[in-house]
Amino acid sequence: MSRLTVLAGPTAVGKGTVSARIREAHPEVWFSVSATTRPPRPGEIDGVHYHFVTDAEFDRMIADGELLEHAVVHGRNRYGTLRGPVQEQIDAGGAPLLEIDLQGARQVREAMPEALFVFLAPPSWDELVRRLVGRGTESEEEQERRLATARVELEAEKEFDVTIINRDVSEAARELVDLMGLEDRD
Ligand code: 5GP
Repeated sequence: MSRLTVLAGPTAVGKGTVSARIREAHPEVWFSVSATTRPPRPGEIDGVHYHFVTDAEFDRMIADGELLEHAVVHGRNRYGTLRGPVQEQIDAGGAPLLEIDLQGARQVREAMPEALFVFLAPPSWDELVRRLVGRGTESEEEQERRLATARVELEAEKEFDVTIINRDVSEAARELVDLMGLEDRD
């Protein structure tokens, strides 16, 4: 048996970048592959980045109890964590990590209060805006939508066990891996 770690934080704070850093340096960390109704972005592979599913398939997964948590993110698409693979990792003593939104983190806390909840915070609000705009993957309308979400999400920091401030990606990744009790290989 091992402990599940949940990483959440506002949009564009760099959860994906920190995760990518951990993937490179710590292959012993197991990343959950979420289901989503969002269409794939260029380069995204089904079953690797997400399980890309239809609305009907997502409904079926909920009905069959296959999702540990699920949420509509940014008022648009649905995302959810598959319960089975996460439980297998916990039972097998692995190092499972969920990178999910705040609503999902709250649901996991209800279901698994023993998990470790980590909040990734930006150095400042201005820096968060800069990162979101600079990423350039979203339309202006989508950016506004995500910033509105981020404002609310920043207030949730106090609900988490620990905060990591993402000033530097490698440092933030190292802090998270330390918190997970994994040896640092950097
Ligand atoms: P993106 O569409 O940019 O890949 O992800 C948008 C947001 O969805 C990110 O903030 C990410 O953390 C969140 N997300 C990804 N997978 C899940 C999931 O399984 N559950 C929940 N609740 N949020 C997720």
